[in-house]
Parts: sequence; structure tokens; C-alpha cells
Amino acid sequence: MNHPLLRIAVPTPLYRSFDYLPPHNVEPSKLHAGQRVSVPFGRRTTVGVLLEVVTHTDIAPQKLKRALKLLDDTPVLNNDILAMVQWASRYYHHPIGEALATALPVLLRQGHPPTVTDTTAVRLTATGQAVDPATLARAPRQAAVLAALHSQPEGVERSALDAPAAVLRALSDKGWIEIFTRQVRPQPGNAESGTAHDLNPAQHKAVDVLLAGLGAFHPYLLEGVTGSGKTEVYLRLIEQVLARGQQTLVLVPEIGLTPQLVTRFQQRFPVPLAVLHSGLNDRERLAAWQQARSGDAPIVIGTRSAIFTPLARPGLLIVDEEHDASLKQQDGFRYSARDLAVWRARQLDLPVVLGSATPSLETLYNVEQQRYQRLELPERTGVAQLPSYRLIDVRHQKLEHGLSAALLSGIERHLAADGQVLLFLNRRGYAPTLMCYGCDWVAECHRCDARMTWHHSDGRLHCHHCGSQRPVDQTCPACQGSDLHPQGQGTERVEQALAEHFPDVERLRIDRDTTRRKGALGQLLERARQGRHQILLGTQMLAKGHHFPNVTLVGILDADHGLFSTDFRASERMAQLIVQVAGRAGRDDRPGQVLIQTAHPEHPLLQLLVTHGYRAFAEAALDERKAARLPPTTNLALLRAEATDAGAPVRFLEGIQERIGSGHAVEAWGPIPASMERRAGRYRAQLLLQSDQRGELQQLLGQLVRQLEQSPDTRKVRWSVDVDPADTF
Ligand code: ADP
Ligand code: ZN
Ligand code: ZN
Repeated sequence: MNHPLLRIAVPTPLYRSFDYLPPHNVEPSKLHAGQRVSVPFGRRTTVGVLLEVVTHTDIAPQKLKRALKLLDDTPVLNNDILAMVQWASRYYHHPIGEALATALPVLLRQGHPPTVTDTTAVRLTATGQAVDPATLARAPRQAAVLAALHSQPEGVERSALDAPAAVLRALSDKGWIEIFTRQVRPQPGNAESGTAHDLNPAQHKAVDVLLAGLGAFHPYLLEGVTGSGKTEVYLRLIEQVLARGQQTLVLVPEIGLTPQLVTRFQQRFPVPLAVLHSGLNDRERLAAWQQARSGDAPIVIGTRSAIFTPLARPGLLIVDEEHDASLKQQDGFRYSARDLAVWRARQLDLPVVLGSATPSLETLYNVEQQRYQRLELPERTGVAQLPSYRLIDVRHQKLEHGLSAALLSGIERHLAADGQVLLFLNRRGYAPTLMCYGCDWVAECHRCDARMTWHHSDGRLHCHHCGSQRPVDQTCPACQGSDLHPQGQGTERVEQALAEHFPDVERLRIDRDTTRRKGALGQLLERARQGRHQILLGTQMLAKGHHFPNVTLVGILDADHGLFSTDFRASERMAQLIVQVAGRAGRDDRPGQVLIQTAHPEHPLLQLLVTHGYRAFAEAALDERKAARLPPTTNLALLRAEATDAGAPVRFLEGIQERIGSGHAVEAWGPIPASMERRAGRYRAQLLLQSDQRGELQQLLGQLVRQLEQSPDTRKVRWSVDVDPADTF
């Protein structure tokens, strides 16, 4: 009996696929891997993905259920994506059904057809066209909408307009705009406005090598100092890929995908661009995904999950800022989009370009092992020079709200010379601690092993780990005294200090609190870029990829965070952040200076970084990793466990450790409580697995997850596997 059976990935946390009879009245010739099928599962009906058509199953015939409906005539996922997700589900030990669900846009997961045909758009009416936005000074948001619509007579997608509903309603009540439904189509570029630069010799050399490599698998590291023109190299390469009639997929970190970057691509190429980021609604996401899959959009640009976008005619993959931690998913399906990009490029036999000014040690190790080819852009473009560094020793000094005298006088000097100043502090809020001077009590979160941050803007204490809030204590709960004081500083407090110290100087603060509103980050960055604000202050949102031509001084308020952390990657992260922030200085014709406040100016890695640069730092850090047998020279996986019961996670992991035993090629370290043991009311612990032999580690993990899946303990303890973890605390 050779009846076809459907092997289907069903979104459930089980590590297996499920076999079904085909739906009634479906010709076997109509069945293809990658189609969606609605199936009965337990008491519900769900949407699964057909993995393969088979003729044999271990399920007893009377237990075999019938699939309900074939949802697609042609597969929504092509073989390329199916193969990649299946591989990733094995490599990262994540259930196949959930992995495939992660790969699909939400609407497809829910069974929606793969095409989105209409969308809501906004355009000016004839009356509106006659209104000059400049006359609306009292309603700046309405003016901004009118200005945006003036340049787009056919209208703009509702969601692309950064405006609250009330603003649009006001404009539509005046009869100035019209909100209408239209067909979805990709946004064409506007190629007249962007011109290509003449390449400098290093760019030329890189482009020549990359062009010669089109059409076959080649992994490259494009290592270019900040402002060396990496993006220009990508653009030249994409131009040729377009000429070959092929598509390019560009992955960028979450913070890197700014309107500026998209505009730069749109200005260069007169072709539709599909942009995939977390700010899209479900319909927009599906529309962009569909444009990539159909080939209507020759350029696809997106954050991490865009790696799962099918492409009709793939020609090139680019991962910009390949070192960025946001390319690794930190929960659920814990994949690395960068590593999957390399895997996908190999499978499709295409080049993949990993770009960074501060490459990850993983990628540098791959270069050392001659698996990746390195292309270098050692100098900034044009006349711009790399900035000079100076360490400011903050021991034995009184700081004024976190600002040393040397930094304050540096700010003064640069402002007087008409330079813009960028200050970096990776801590938002007013103060990270509220302390009682009477008894040393500090305000802690009731649900986490963490201190509460005092926020001045709303006068409340916030936990940055679980989001809980409460009013600021007026008296000390321990000694009833009223001698409570903020300790340390966040961006709000530094901003206040700057206001007092430089009352006539404009300031712009960019952190999560000032950018909550959709589109706010883009607006603030644009204002920063125009140089109207002389002091820019912010967290890492301000650090990455932006081009602020007028910044001449960068001040790093606290460099010590990464030096003594329990996470072995902390010093690498700190070095990358310092170099990236520093890279905002002196990007135009005026030289830049970087002042770094530290209580450990003699630290060898910090010294190496500021005197010899990132490459020297990275080589020393890689040697340390080799000596300590840490990644990338060995393989790690982390088993995490959490529970509401304090002792349960460690006990659970001890059980696993016993099961693993000793004398293997895999060593198990721990279990130990996480460095913040309690978070959002749950206790957490981890067991670290390490091996020089990836195959052995993989095999062991495979056995473990199959056992854990069956284990009765898992009703009380939530566990997860993280292969190649980005964070180990
Ligand atoms: P990166 O991506 O390496 O930070 P960009 O590609 O953003 O660098 O380039 C930095 C700046 O230099 C941009 O303003 C870009 O337009 C300009 N640029 C790039 N290549 C050249 C070149 N060959 N000559 C002059 N300017 C260039
Ligand atoms: Zn007290
Ligand atoms: Zn908390």
C-alpha cells in the first residue's frame, strides 16, 4: 500500500514531526514540501508545514489522522529555507515545528493566504496641496505630515507616516488629506538623488575581489574602520548583482536599520526595496516578505529574522555589523542570523560578506583558520582621520554627576571650537541606586535580584530587568530615616548636570525613554545629524553606525563595565562599543578626540585598545580565549533552567549532570545559579557544556533534549538549550 502520507512540522514544543493522511480529494501530484496544511492536533486545529511526502509511518493505521486542508497550491517555503530551518532546528536543538513557525510571517502562521493585496495609504487633497506646511508652526506634527506628503503625490502607506491617529484625523477633518485603500506594491527607489563616490584604492581592491567572487560560495570579512566606506562597497557590489538580475539580502542589527540607511539604498537604486523590521505590522511584514519571495524586490534589507526570507533569485548575502549581539536570538529559537547566513550562502553557492569595524572573535578566528577571506579598509574616506584616544583616571577625583574635570574642560574646548560633543553612558534613568545614608539600605526590586533605577521623568523607581515600577520611597523601610539619596548616574542625571554646567548649549538625549514613540529615534537622529544640538548624550542607541559629521569629541563616561564581568565576552563587547562610539568622532574634515573615563587605566586590554587599536586588542583577547579554552577555539552550549521554587533549577541541572557523567569528550561545568539568580520572580541556574569536538557535543545535546522532553521534572522547571550562547550569565 503506497498511499502518500504527509510528514508535517506542527508548531508545538515537541522535538519531532507528525504523520498525517492527506486531505480528502487532493491529488498526490499536488503535494510539495513547503506547503502549509491545516491539521487537527490534540483538541485544536493548527497550521503545519509539509516537510516531505512519505509512504511509510510507524503510527498504527487506526491512530493516523487526516489532514484537513492544503492551504497553498505552491510551497510558501522553498527548499532552501526548509533545509536551512531543518538544519538549524537540529543544530540549535529547537523543535522543528516552532522553528518553522519562527521563520514564517505571523499571518502565514495563522493560515492567511501568502499575498497581501491592499493597504491603507494617505495622500494630500487638492486643498491640502495648497497649504504651506511652514504656516503651521503651532502644529508641528501636522506640518511634518503635510511636508512628507508634499513630496509623494501618489500617497504614503499609513504605517510609514510617523503620526498618531489624532494628527491624521485633524488633517482629514480639515479636508487636507485623504485616507484610502490601495494595492500593495513595492516602493520604488529614487535613483536621481544618489551618486556613487569614486572609490579609494582600498575600496577598489575590495570591490574587485568581491566582484570576481560573485556566483560561488565565498565567505568574506570586510574589515573596515568606522567611516571607511564599507556601505559604499556593498552598494557597488549590489549594483553588479542587480545587473545580473539577482537579489541581495542585507542583514543589519536592530539599531542599525535606520531610515538613513534605507534612504541611502533607495537613492542609489531605482528598484523596489523590501524592508523587514520589528516596527512593521503583520500585513506590511507579509507584503515585504512576499516581494522578496516573488523577486519583485531585488534588494531585501532586514534585521535578524530576515535571514528566513525566501528569495526567488538569490545572488548575494551581506551581514552588516556582523559582531552585533542582536544578530543572535536570545530566547525561543536561539539562532545566530550571521552563522545561518554563512550556512545559507554555502548551500546556495553564493558569496556572503560579513562587514564590521570591530569583527567578532569568532569571525577573526575563521579568518585565521583560512575559512574566511579578509578584505581591509584601513583608512577613513576623504580627509577624515581616525580619532585620538585618551584615558582619564577617575580614581582620587571628585566627579560632578559622573563628569570629571578633564572631561568637562574637553567639552568646553570643543564647544568653543564649534564642534559637536557626543557623550556615551550605557545606563538610562536618573540614578541606578537609591540608598539610605542612615543604614546603607538600597532600593531593590521585589521580583529580581537587582536594584531599582530612579527615573526623574516620572518620579518612580523602575526595574530594568522585569519592568516593575513603584513610587520613590520617602522614608527608609529599614530604619525609617529620611536620609535617602540617589547614587551613581544615568543619562537623565548627566543631562541635568550638563544643563547646569552649560546652560546655553543645546542638548539632545537619545535613550530608550526618549525614543519610545514610533519614529522618534529617526527624528532625534536626524536632528543630531543636522548638528543643531551641540551636546548629544545617549546609550548604545547613539553608538552604532550613525554618521554625525560635526562631532569632534566623544566622551565615554564609564568604560569599566566590561572589564571585570563574569561573562567571558564582556571585554570584547566593551572594546567593540568603545570603538563604535569613538567612531562617531571626526568623521568629517575636523579631527576627532575620544576621552574615556576609567578607574582602571592600567588594564592591559584597555591599554592595548587605546594605544594599538581594535585589531591588537582582538588578537590578544583571542590568545586569552585559546589559553582558557573558550570559544571560538572550543564549543559551548548552555543549559538554562528556571522555576518559582528556589532550589529546583540547580537540582534539575544536577540531575542532568549526573546523567552526562564524566570521561566524555564533553565537560559539564556547574550547575551554578545565574549571576542575577532571581528575575521576574523566577530562580535561574545554568549548566555549561564544553567540548573541543562539536560532533560529540551535538550528539550529547540531542540525547539530552529527547530525555528532558519526557522528564516529569519539566512540569515544574522550565529549561532551554543555547548553542553558541552570546551571553553566559
Ligand atoms: P562605513 O559604512 O564604513 O562606516 P560609509 O560607507 O558610511 O562608511 O562611508 C562614510 C562616509 O564616507 C559616507 O558619508 C560616504 O558617503 C562617504 N564615502 C564613502 N566612500 C567614499 C569615497 N570613496 N570617497 C569619498 N567619500 C566616500
Ligand atoms: Zn535606612
Ligand atoms: Zn525586577
